[in-house]
Amino acid sequence: MVIPVYNESANLDALWRRLKPVLDGCGRTYEVVFVDDGSADNSLDLLRELARNEPRVRVVELARNFGQHAAILAAFRNSEGEVVVTLDADLQNPPEEIPRLLDAIDAGNDVVGGWREDRHDQTFRKVASRMHNHLTSLIVGVPMHDYGCMLRAYRRHIVDTVVECDEKAAFVPALANSFAKRVAEIPVGHEQRASGDSRYNLLGLAKLSLNLITGFSLLPIQMLSIAGIGIFILDAALVLLIVGHRLIYGPQQEGALWLLFAVLFALIGVMFLAIGLVGEYVGRIYLEVRRRPNYIVRAVHVHDFDSREPQSRP
Ligand code: UDP
Ligand code: MG
Repeated sequence: MVIPVYNESANLDALWRRLKPVLDGCGRTYEVVFVDDGSADNSLDLLRELARNEPRVRVVELARNFGQHAAILAAFRNSEGEVVVTLDADLQNPPEEIPRLLDAIDAGNDVVGGWREDRHDQTFRKVASRMHNHLTSLIVGVPMHDYGCMLRAYRRHIVDTVVECDEKAAFVPALANSFAKRVAEIPVGHEQRASGDSRYNLLGLAKLSLNLITGFSLLPIQMLSIAGIGIFILDAALVLLIVGHRLIYGPQQEGALWLLFAVLFALIGVMFLAIGLVGEYVGRIYLEVRRRPNYIVRAVHVHDFDSREPQSRP
């Protein structure tokens, strides 16, 4: 279990009281890694107290507030389980859904996402989230209804790969999906925040979306090149029009002005294309320095002549 915590002192007690029986009831060994993301309240004290009393609890203390996804990465690095489940600390995601996520992992999925069908958030959040999910599905190439739900389960090799990427502006669910072979989504309940307000404001959400777009595609800069080509095509039509007009009606006084327009638009088109081209090269450098793996080997299967059985080694 991985739980990021930012100023959640009012929720921690209730969270643990609901979470512990669920985990005990799963019939597996587990650990719970809480990450204190630079809380200004006494969340850290409460967590340390919990860790003193509960051998299965580990607390990672970050030096300041680094944001939810950075906190999850820190927890991933400090986790050991074969399956890692992330959960918000505010009890919006019911811990009681965890066994269903684990079942879906056992069914052979690498990543299982929660899908908040009936979401209890402000309307603007829901609308923004719909657009966000469509966009993310498109650029990651893995369609999902809900990329924002942090009640999710990941297999170890996915977690390791995400940690290895060590990205500066990681969006964990999208990154994980881009490395997964089988992804499932199951509807989960969603509740009002137990206490306090969302730790995200509009700016924070916009930043997250922008991170995602620039982190997963070169689309914004490629749109410039496409605009450049579009301008060229329109300009060619304009030139045809001017030439046609001159052939039919003969030279006109304002002809020079139209010609000027055509030349101007051609130049603007060239400029767009040039910027797009530079962007394309910068984008390639970006893809290289990011060092995301091009592939992940899970196992090498070889024939073992002693046992006459095909063998696998990790
Ligand atoms: N969180 C965090 N660091 C932050 C912001 C949020 O660790 O900078 C944690 C927060 O404590 C909660 C989870 O991330 O456990 C989700 O945050 P929140 O409930 O505010 O987001 P929302 O549910 O509105 O998307
Ligand atoms: Mg929340």
